Amino acid sequence: MSITTAPAASSTSTAREVLSAAFPAGFGAFQDGKVVPGSGNSITLTSAATGEPFASYADPGTEGADSILESSVRGAAVWGALNGFERAAILRNVSRVVEAHIEELAILESATTGKPIRDARVEAAKVAEMFGYYAGWADKLTGQTIPVPGPWHTYTERVPWGVVVAITPWNAPLFTAGWNSAAPLAAGNAVIIKPSEFTPATTVRLAQLAHEAGLPAGVFNVAAGLGQTVGATLTSDRRVGKVSFIGSVPTGRRVAVAAAQAGIPALLELGGKSANIVFADADLERAADGAISAIFSGAGQSCVAGSRLLVERSVHSRFVEMVAERAARLRVGDPLDPDTEVGPIITAPQFATVTSLIEAGVNDGGRRVTGAALPDSLAGSKLAGGHWVMPTLLDGVTPANRLETTEVFGPVVGADAFDTEAEAITRANNTTFGLAGAVWTSDISRAHHIAREVKAGTFWINSYKTIHVAVPFGGFGDSGHGRSSGPGVLDEYTQTKAVWVPTRAAGSPFPSLSY
Ligand code: NAD
Repeated sequence: MSITTAPAASSTSTAREVLSAAFPAGFGAFQDGKVVPGSGNSITLTSAATGEPFASYADPGTEGADSILESSVRGAAVWGALNGFERAAILRNVSRVVEAHIEELAILESATTGKPIRDARVEAAKVAEMFGYYAGWADKLTGQTIPVPGPWHTYTERVPWGVVVAITPWNAPLFTAGWNSAAPLAAGNAVIIKPSEFTPATTVRLAQLAHEAGLPAGVFNVAAGLGQTVGATLTSDRRVGKVSFIGSVPTGRRVAVAAAQAGIPALLELGGKSANIVFADADLERAADGAISAIFSGAGQSCVAGSRLLVERSVHSRFVEMVAERAARLRVGDPLDPDTEVGPIITAPQFATVTSLIEAGVNDGGRRVTGAALPDSLAGSKLAGGHWVMPTLLDGVTPANRLETTEVFGPVVGADAFDTEAEAITRANNTTFGLAGAVWTSDISRAHHIAREVKAGTFWINSYKTIHVAVPFGGFGDSGHGRSSGPGVLDEYTQTKAVWVPTRAAGSPFPSLSY
């Protein structure tokens, strides 16, 4: 096995240098084991940190998407014919190769998205872990032997869907590429990822590394490009067995309808508006650190962000001050600086959305406690034109405020006071979303009661934002359906076949059943 290594990038390189070092001949797709320049729409990539364009690429267009589908159908036949032990060995190798390229992937992710390098390193390591975890399942996908009345041996088998198309968002491109490829591959499917048009680079590089680690050609393809053309083509084509989508509610619904019309089932991981509930009896220092991490890590561009802070009235003012003080101390700046804790908003349209929602929150009665002007270190530097939003806390965000129910997807938290446990639960559930939530308290019974009552796919007690590939993750309500991690996801990526064999050949019954 020989692994090609992209020319080394350093933390002082610019986005343009890092990207052209990784893909000297351009990119638009990864198909049949090769990086392929596209010939469809031309897309300009803009640096979130400086606001300047740094590269452009052509996507595969609808014709290119069709050719990628053909390649994946061939790849699915090859991959599906391997046994689980063979697939496990290759996926273990993918894990090792990704692990050996964590730094390179992290620099590519950070330079091209604006994600702080310290977060990008953690996410790249998680991708290696995902492949290792699902490699462990690839040779353990068993069916069942089911006793039935009569002379029958009846058993089930797990059959891959064939081609799985995964549509991913821009906030965590590498992480979601691993999240949505390791499991379907372990289950024997070929995968096509359509990353966000804004952030395609690390997904292409991941597919390249996976191929070099032993995945046969066509098993892991990437179609970088626009959702309305490339994405829409891939999610409504009958050659596709299953669609998995991570992104916003409106797009998720559009994708699910298009897929359903082609008879394709879709798994949806959508947005959130999660409540972080703090009781007076909590360890308030720890809860304040947790509240900071809940909303400001990833600059709030996180589906599980703790964007509503509900605090018991007796400690509300003090706790809001504690969070505001910590928020003001966060190091906001150059994503490639290892000390940076909060980076810019990744896309220009999202930057506009976040700034207008802060204004809406203030107009609706929210009191800005922290977060406004950029520090001199940003305002007077080459970063001045970037998509910067300082960590923002608005207090007095009541149910009438738009920030109570609207996902901001930025570093903005709305706080409010509550008086009773019942009120905290009602407020937490005052959303159509149901992705995550948390409670901070030293009362163990109350903690479990609240965990039971809040409608969310993930709930933390005295913690926030811990997720692991071994644990099911997904949403209630508008946050989507289906789970995308844990062993259960292997059921999402396989179909069950039942096989009946008579154990007494002669004279065995043929029951009459009109079903
Ligand atoms: P988005 O919905 O705008 O785009 C998501 C993806 O869909 C992109 O790749 C886009 O190109 C593609 N797309 C757009 N139109 C399409 C179409 N017609 N057919 C097929 N694909 C199409 O979302 P975004 O702005 O990239 O991401 C932000 C959203 O994602 C937020 O709401 C966030 O909460 C959500 N998110 C959810 C999770 C989760 O696990 N629940 C994780 C990350 C992000």
